[in-house]
Amino acid sequence: MELKFATCLNCIDGRFQIPVITWITQNYDVDYVDMITEAGMNGLLASKYFDPSHVLRRLAISISKNNSNTIFIVGHFDCAANSVKEEVQKKHIKKAVERIKNYTLSCQVIGIWVSEYLEVEKISEVGGIRKDDSQEDDSQMYEYSASG
Ligand SMILES: [Zn+2]
Repeated sequence: MELKFATCLNCIDGRFQIPVITWITQNYDVDYVDMITEAGMNGLLASKYFDPSHVLRRLAISISKNNSNTIFIVGHFDCAANSVKEEVQKKHIKKAVERIKNYTLSCQVIGIWVSEYLEVEKISEVGGIRKDDSQEDDSQMYEYSASG
């Protein structure tokens, strides 16, 4: 049986790695979670001044080599690198989901928030386009390869 991977764009914060992996593997048909981290990932991805190319390079490997088609984007309580209010962080998560979705048409992209009690809440979700819905093979990171 083929192992199933998802991809998670998470903060570097060590408190929020295992709770996120546990929640994903319990709630989705996923065996392993490829983790890509940046300090304050949701805030970075929501900022138009952030160049996401190094994140996208790692995401492309997870999608193409591990056949991941579900991407999670995390924001969390008490983030040292994105120290804005919870409601603003949740807006960052939604923006980040929309942004990453532009690069990965075939993937489902899900934004999640982790509370001070390490409880995970789904903030937003954008579905993937399935092969039978579309003629195009959009499994590649088309914009990433175009932008170099
Ligand atoms: Zn953080």
